[in-house]
Amino acid sequence: MNSVGKVSDEPEVVVIVGGSAAGMATASKLRRLGYTGRLTIIGDEVVPYDRPPLSKQFLAGQWAEDKLSLMSPDQLKGLDAQLFLGTRAIDLDSRRRTITDDTGRTHRFDAAVIATGVRPRMLDALSAGQPHVLRTVSDAVGLRERLQPGIRLVVVGGGFLGLETAATALELGVDVTVIEPNPHPLSDRLGMNASARLIDLHRSRGTDLRLGVSVASSSRDGHGTWTLELTDHSTVTADDVLVAVGSVPQTDWLVESGLGISNGVVCDATCQAAPHVWAVGDVARWWDDRHQAHVRLEHRTNAIEQADAVARGILGVHRDAYQPVPFFWTDHFDARIQLAGRFTPDSSETLIDVDPAKGSNITLFHRDGRLTAVLGWSAPKDFQTYRRQLLQEHADGRK
Ligand SMILES: Cc1cc2nc3c(=O)[nH]c(=O)nc-3n(C[C@H](O)[C@H](O)[C@H](O)COP(=O)(O)OP(=O)(O)OC[C@H]3O[C@@H](n4cnc5c(N)ncnc54)[C@H](O)[C@@H]3O)c2cc1C
Repeated sequence: MNSVGKVSDEPEVVVIVGGSAAGMATASKLRRLGYTGRLTIIGDEVVPYDRPPLSKQFLAGQWAEDKLSLMSPDQLKGLDAQLFLGTRAIDLDSRRRTITDDTGRTHRFDAAVIATGVRPRMLDALSAGQPHVLRTVSDAVGLRERLQPGIRLVVVGGGFLGLETAATALELGVDVTVIEPNPHPLSDRLGMNASARLIDLHRSRGTDLRLGVSVASSSRDGHGTWTLELTDHSTVTADDVLVAVGSVPQTDWLVESGLGISNGVVCDATCQAAPHVWAVGDVARWWDDRHQAHVRLEHRTNAIEQADAVARGILGVHRDAYQPVPFFWTDHFDARIQLAGRFTPDSSETLIDVDPAKGSNITLFHRDGRLTAVLGWSAPKDFQTYRRQLLQEHADGRK
C-alpha cells in the first residue's frame, strides 16, 4: 500500500463466497487496507451473524437474535459491497474466473475468496429420525424451543459443541445424557488433566456422561420417543437427540472447480488455492510451514486472523506464509476454558494455581524445552499474560 492508502496491486473485482465471520472479516479488512475496487459478497444466509453464542447465551435464552449480528446495517452499508444474500454459489470456474450462483447469475472476478465454512456431520446410526444439529440460528431456535424442563435430551458427541450444549441444556432443567466414544473427551485438544476436570465438572452438575461407547442403532416409537442402542448393548431413551460429531467442509459446490478439495479447500502457505483464488476460515486447509502439514482450524479467532492474511495477500501488501498461534475458548457452566498454541500429547504440563478457591488455574505445555501451548481455566487475565509470552516466543522463533 502506498502512503495515501491506495493499494498498488488492487484487483478490479473481488468476489467473496460465504457471508459469515471469515467472509465479512475479509471484506472489512480489504476496505480498511484501502481497497477501492468492486466487492461482491454471495452468502446463502440472509444476515451475517455470529455462531459461538448459539450454544451458549442464545441457546440459554439470555441473548436475543439481534445480539448475534456481526455487523450493524451502517457497517454493512459502509462496506460498499454488492450483496447477494440468501443466494448460493453453485460453481466456480478458476480458469475463466467466474462464479455462478443459484439464480443463474455469473460473477466475474479478479480475486475470489472461498469462505463457505462447514456443515454438521450426520450419523447413519441415527437414521430413525431427524436429530437436531447446531450450526445455524434456525437450528438453535428449533433446539431451544424443545429444551423445556424435564425433557430428556441425548447429545451424541462429547466434543466442544456437544459438551457446551449439554451444559446449557442442563441449566435449563433438561435431563441430559452425553454419549462419547473417547473415554477421555477432548484429551487430544486439552490434555488429560483438563479432560478429567471437564468430566468431573459435567458429572457433578448432573450430566449422565456415557464414555467409551457410541450409538449402534436407533428407533422411534409412535410418540416420537427415541431409543438408542449403544455399543455396550445398553439403551437410552430420549425425547430429543442432538448430533454433534464434527463437521464437513462446505465444498460440494466446488467439485467441478479444478481446485484441490480434500477435507477443505487445499491451499498453499499463503492461503491461496489457485491463481486468483483464496480460502479462509473453517473451510480453508492451508499449508502450515512451521508444522509442515496442511491444517484446518474451526476457531472463531482464526476466521479473523486468516481473513487479515488473505486480504493482504489479495492486495499484494504482504504475502508471507500464514502461521498463526491458534486460539479458542469454550464455556461450560461457569467455567471458561481458553487455549492458545498447539497442544500435543507428548508435551509436559506445568500447573499454576491462580485462585484455588475459585478453581482457576493455568497450564503451560512445553515440548523440547519450548512453550507450545497455554491453557487457562477460568483465569482470563493470567491467561492473556501467558498468551502474550507465547506469541512473543513464536515471533522470536520466526526471526
Ligand atoms: C454452535 C457453535 C459454537 C461455537 N463456539 C465457538 C467457541 O466457543 N469458540 C471458537 O473459537 N469457535 C466456536 N465456534 C466456531 C466458529 O463459530 C467458527 O470457527 C466460525 O463461525 C467460522 O466462520 P466461517 O465464516 O469460516 O464459517 P461459517 O460461520 O460456517 O460461515 C460460512 C458461511 O458460508 C455460507 N455458505 C456455505 N456454502 C455456501 C455457498 N455455496 N454459497 C453461498 N454461501 C455459502 C454458510 O451458509 C455460512 O453463512 C462455534 C461454532 C458453532 C456452530
